[in-house]
This record gives sequence, structure tokens and C-alpha cells, in this order.
Amino acid sequence: MFETLQDRLGGILDKLRGRGALSEADVSEAMREVRRALLEADVALEVVRTFVDKVKERAVGVEVVKSVTPGQMVVKIVHDTLVETLGSEADPISLAAAAPVPILMVGLQGSGKTTTTAKIARRLATREKRKVLMASLDTRRPAAMEQLATLGRQVEVEVLPIVAGQSAVQIANRAMQAARLGGYDVVMLDTAGRTTVDEALMAEVADVRRATNPHEVLLVADALTGQDAVNTARAFDTALGITGIVLTRVDGDGRGGAALSMRAVTGKPIKLLGTGEKVDALEDFSPQRLAGRILGMGDVVALVERAAAEIDHEKAAQAAEKMRKGQFDLEDLRGQLDQMSRMGGMSGMMSLMPGMAQMKKQMAGANLDDSLLKRQKAIIDSMTRSERRNPDLLKASRKKRIAAGSGTKVEEVNRLLKMHRQMADVMKMLGKGKRGPLAGLGAA
Ligand code: GDP
Repeated sequence: MFETLQDRLGGILDKLRGRGALSEADVSEAMREVRRALLEADVALEVVRTFVDKVKERAVGVEVVKSVTPGQMVVKIVHDTLVETLGSEADPISLAAAAPVPILMVGLQGSGKTTTTAKIARRLATREKRKVLMASLDTRRPAAMEQLATLGRQVEVEVLPIVAGQSAVQIANRAMQAARLGGYDVVMLDTAGRTTVDEALMAEVADVRRATNPHEVLLVADALTGQDAVNTARAFDTALGITGIVLTRVDGDGRGGAALSMRAVTGKPIKLLGTGEKVDALEDFSPQRLAGRILGMGDVVALVERAAAEIDHEKAAQAAEKMRKGQFDLEDLRGQLDQMSRMGGMSGMMSLMPGMAQMKKQMAGANLDDSLLKRQKAIIDSMTRSERRNPDLLKASRKKRIAAGSGTKVEEVNRLLKMHRQMADVMKMLGKGKRGPLAGLGAA
């Protein structure tokens, strides 16, 4: 399953790669293809519409992070929207209720309901060390009751003994009673299935629901049935109010639309995936993993995420750009000094900055410790705003005032001004190359 959708979307989005800027027309064309792919994958029309609109809205005019192509950016947006449509967070079965916790299993006959009941019981018993009781409520099909008994022996989980002639509600009540007396944590109630949704079935299951007040009502649906599974989910949710979905036969090669649609149509989480006939073929549902599988482009998503993390560096590069243009004033220097003290003092900092080794040599002998940093900051703090922005204003009398105000000497003020000039020059010089020397520092 999912292969078809993955291939289709993959092919479409590949076309977008390598383009310069992404126009509205580009996005629209891509979205037409995405729409077609989703419809072919049997995603419900209403879900496709909402999905495509959302992606389009997000993609047009999006700020494309440097170092990725616009196409890669769109892949990421499609991916994130897929994850969102699928439910964002993994949503495991909840047992947060007073024991014994009733879990009602519902679904059509042949969907894999009984098998899934045993799979979940096994998982709760082994992984979560819960004492589990299973009961079959399928009064019309003795074979179904036998099947659960067999599975119970296989997964080593207790199954409520069969009593002939009882109704589904009576069996459910008996199961709850037995669980209370026996100190069970969980009761799994496997309801009867029909080949199609019918009123008698819904009424019976609704009765059981009322009698047992289940903590989870899990719909088991066959992924291979595509759009039918979506309609089934809608019908069961309307009639009973389900709390989650288990999608079975995800191991088959059906179309991937069911998962997307079911979540979107019912608003209920897909909790687990059935991936085979064996009792351990049960997987946690992860929206991220499924979206990645649908797109088959996890690497691109990771790439865009990494690139986005570099945006901070871009801010720093902007600061460096300012310096290159000779707009590096004493206020900027004050900011840099602050950063330096935060990042382990000037000496340590300078060794990290390309091009700063020379500066360091020039300043050899100077006291490159934190007390120097503090004094330099005090000097700048003693200046007026216009002095900080225009160091040329600083003639002798002003320097004297600043030295007195900061508890330093005029020579020190001069040394700071000289350092500022030199830094500004070095910036300008380096600026002719690539990124500014402070680009790696992270902007304040
Ligand atoms: P029920 O009528 O809904 O209770 O369905 P069953 O539990 O009897 O399952 C019907 C058939 O589907 C059985 O042969 C199961 O082994 C098979 N089945 C159930 N779940 C899966 C699954 O996730 N993958 C595959 N391949 N087969 C499954």
C-alpha cells in the first residue's frame, strides 16, 4: 500500500526541483498534479480539495530558504500538510480509566476485526503487562467465537467462555463482571460484523456501547477497500461515535487514499496499522512515517529543516553585511562585545572567527580577559547615542569625559576607538569575499 501515491507525488514534485523562483502559476500546475494523484490514490474528493487548497495557500509566496530549491520547499509543505491531515501526533490506545477498561472493537465482517482484537490484546499483555480478557459478541456466528478462542490460546490471553443463547449485551455484561471479579485491567469486546453497514448491526453495537460505556471504540477497517472504508468509517462514527481507527492490510498493495481520507472525514485518529496475518503484525501509526512513506522523500524534508535552522546564521550575515558597508558603529561593537562575553570571552571568540587571528596578534600583550571586555563596554556606555553612532565626534574633551565616566583612562578610550576602526576595516576587507566574519556567531 501507499506505493502508488508515493510514486505519483514523487514524479510530480521532481518536476519542480531546480527552478529558481516559485510563481503562483508553478504552484497551481503542481497542485493540479497533486490533486490528480490524490484522486487516483482514492482519496475522497472533499479531502483532496481541502488538502490542495491548504498546500497552495502555504506554498505561494513562501520565503524559500537558501540552499534548497523551491521544489524541495513545496515537497516540505506537502509533507507537513500530509502530516497535519493524518493527525500530527501518534495517538496510542488509551487505558486511562478505571479498571477493567472496556475496549469495543467494531467493523465490517472480514475487515480483520477478530485478528486485530487478538493482536491488540497480545500487545497490551506483553508490552504493557496488562491482564486482558477477550470476549466475542458475535452470537450469530459460532465460528467467529471459536476463532477468538483459538487466537486467545495462541496469544496466551484469556477468552470469556461461551454460554449458548446469550445476547450480545448479556455477553458484554458477563465479560465486565468476570473482569471485575478476576482483577482484569482490560476487556476487549469483539462485536459481530456484517458484510455491509446495516441498521440491525448498528443498533446491536449501540446497545453494547450503552451497557459497557467503553473507553475506546475502535473501528477496524480494511485499507484495501479504499473509498468503501472511508464510507464505513463515516457510517460507524455517525451511528456509534468511534474513538479511533485501526487500518488493516496495510501490507497489501492497495491505494493509499484510505488513511488520509478516514482521518480527515471522521476527525478520529488512526491508532494502529495491521501489517499482516500474524499476531505480531501490528504497528503504531505514525503520521510522520506515513507521510514520509507517501512522499518517499524524508531526506528532502530533513534537508529543508536543517536549512531553516540556518536562518539565524542569515541574520548574523545581515549584521556582517552592515559592517562590510562600513556602517559598523560603536553601538554594533557594543552588541558584539556582549556576544563575546556570552560566548567565552574575547580571546576564545577571536580564535573562532576567520580573519581575526591577525587582529589578535596586533593586540598581543593587551589583556584579553573579561575585565577588559567589561571596561570596554563601560566606555561605550558612557558615550552619548550620537557619539556611539558617529565616533568622529570624539575629540579630546569628550574622550576625557568618557574616561572619567567609565572609570578608565583616555588611552584606553583611544585603544577602543582604534580597535573599532580596525575591526570595521577588516570587515570591509573580508566583505569582498563570501560571508562576513561574524556570520557564524548567531545574531543577537
Ligand atoms: P473479521 O471478520 O473482521 O473478524 O476478520 P478476521 O479477523 O477474521 O480477518 C479476516 C482475514 O484477514 C483473516 O484471514 C486474517 O488473517 C486476515 N487479516 C487480518 N488483518 C490483516 C492484515 O493486517 N494484513 C493481512 N494481510 N491480513 C490480515
